[in-house]
Amino acid sequence: MSKIKSLIRKTATPANTNNPILDNIANSDAPINMTANTPIEQTRWNGWGNININKKVSAHGAKLIKSHIGKTKKLNSVSLAQVLKTVPKSRLPTAITELKTVSIDQEDRLRHARGQSFPDWIAMHGGDFEVFPDGVAFPESTADVEILLKLASEHDLIVIPFGGGTSVAGHINPQKGSRPILTVAMSKMAQLIDLDNESQIATFGAGTQGPAVEAQLDTHGYRLGHYPQSWELSTLGGWIAARSSGQQSLGYGRIEQMFAGGTLVTPQGTLNIADFPASAAGPDLREMMMGTEGRAGIFTEVKMRVQHQPEEELFKVAFMPNWEVGKEVLRQAVQKNIRLSMLRLSNAVETDAHLHLGTTPSQFLAISTYLKARGLSSDKVMLTYGVSGDKAQNKLALTEFNKLLKQQGSVTGKITDIMGSVWAHGRFKFPYLRGTLWEKGIMVDTFETATNWNHIDEQMQQMQEAVQNALADEGEEVMAFTHISHVYKQGASLYTTYFFRAAQDHASTLSRWQKIKHAASSSLANGTATISHQHGVGRDHAPYLAAEKGKLGIQVTSDMLKSLDPEQRMNPGVLIED
Ligand SMILES: Cc1cc2nc3c(=O)[nH]c(=O)nc-3n(C[C@H](O)[C@H](O)[C@H](O)COP(=O)(O)OP(=O)(O)OC[C@H]3O[C@@H](n4cnc5c(N)ncnc54)[C@H](O)[C@@H]3O)c2cc1C
Repeated sequence: MSKIKSLIRKTATPANTNNPILDNIANSDAPINMTANTPIEQTRWNGWGNININKKVSAHGAKLIKSHIGKTKKLNSVSLAQVLKTVPKSRLPTAITELKTVSIDQEDRLRHARGQSFPDWIAMHGGDFEVFPDGVAFPESTADVEILLKLASEHDLIVIPFGGGTSVAGHINPQKGSRPILTVAMSKMAQLIDLDNESQIATFGAGTQGPAVEAQLDTHGYRLGHYPQSWELSTLGGWIAARSSGQQSLGYGRIEQMFAGGTLVTPQGTLNIADFPASAAGPDLREMMMGTEGRAGIFTEVKMRVQHQPEEELFKVAFMPNWEVGKEVLRQAVQKNIRLSMLRLSNAVETDAHLHLGTTPSQFLAISTYLKARGLSSDKVMLTYGVSGDKAQNKLALTEFNKLLKQQGSVTGKITDIMGSVWAHGRFKFPYLRGTLWEKGIMVDTFETATNWNHIDEQMQQMQEAVQNALADEGEEVMAFTHISHVYKQGASLYTTYFFRAAQDHASTLSRWQKIKHAASSSLANGTATISHQHGVGRDHAPYLAAEKGKLGIQVTSDMLKSLDPEQRMNPGVLIED
């Protein structure tokens, strides 16, 4: 036992490489920039994240995936120079190009043409971008954005608001059409503008990325607490416009609870959304504008509800005998109001995969032997949880939660506590794995939803089966596993990760993904689960939205957007199919 502990402790330090849990910081070349927006030229033009950061996958983890999907072969990737040659001449009129905020530089246009969806990765690696924006504007103030939208109206432009470009649902991709396209990148509006200590409201430029939000608040002793896995690069404006949810939403709330109000520049004028603590004055404009995905206008300044920095923050892991009992612990904890900041439950396949992907064979053996000796079988599931607050409050929450864990036969201890810390240290490095797997010909994507507790099992099964069988016509296996990522009293979100083999070229690999995506999306169209809990709608989910909102619901949403944007110049085709 002490040997196992020391093995895990050793591997949990940044100086070492392999770790027992997938998300760790050891396999990287540089730390994530925790202070300011990352300049776009320091990010990968055809993949995730900072060019100086990589994450290795253990040979033994890759072997596990290949044991499901078969032998893989890497897809070719084109070079930046090759793609730059395909960027056409800008169609923007000189009245726009002569603005000091606007660039028609080819690399700027290329770097703002795609997000992080699977089709985006195929386009970027295959070199077939299809369409580029005709220019990219970098406004520095609300007044700049107002001028841009006025000129866009005068010159009949399409306008695409761009936050961090981390969309995984095709939110920011320009489409073919006769109107010139101006992408409005918010990266220069990244400052804390005002902090009302009494009301705990911080006003930020909407283009502020996660680390820059927290670093600027931290100097005043505050925190927002919104940590999507894309935190390194995604922005306040993108979170609000796509209704994001962070890993600690249980403690800090979803973006809906954090966004108090702000300024939205629309083609019909500037809308100031008041930041009342609550209001009974009719339909809530704040709610109505969240989730508009760039179709209503551009958020320029946003008022966020912030909290004091917690005195203590802890992340822990427990192993449970099986999914059923793990799920019961989550449900009871949230329904009993135990003040945890996060709860996540991996199913048995995901638990096994995580343990493989983050370990060497000897580490895996050591952990498996330890868990087996404590009575857990291959049905075991991994539960990750956290507390964030003052020490007394955390202690109380952990005491109550430990009681629940014990009642349900959990395995916890120093080793699992270390695993929790390792997870916390490395949680924003996980997206880097996608590039590593891509290089091996292993394609990976995710799919997520939310449903009530009484539908969780049925929905997870439907989603996984749909994904696993989607390539049966080609005789291809898809490996899939799921976790519950966010919990509510009423239900929870389900997040499925799947792996499949690259085909012989980019087009047929995309066609494989399309089959999987369609099968997974259709498995939700029964009215009990949403098409997205956190990634938003974009273009990829738009065809499935009517199944959830109904014809009248789509009409109401569409009419509301048209009232702000009658010419449909703001990001058309996103959210609602036009
Ligand atoms: C690796 C990875 C992990 C992820 N994990 C999570 C997660 O844990 N939780 C989660 O919620 N999401 C997650 N996402 C999805 C994505 O990060 C979110 O949708 C996020 O909210 C997008 O923010 P962004 O700033 O990158 O916006 P973008 O991708 O640039 O834009 C998204 C949408 O918002 C609009 N928009 C952006 N800024 C503005 C603005 N200022 N005004 C008006 N409209 C605007 C755009 O037009 C577009 O429609 C993940 C994505 C990746 C790649």
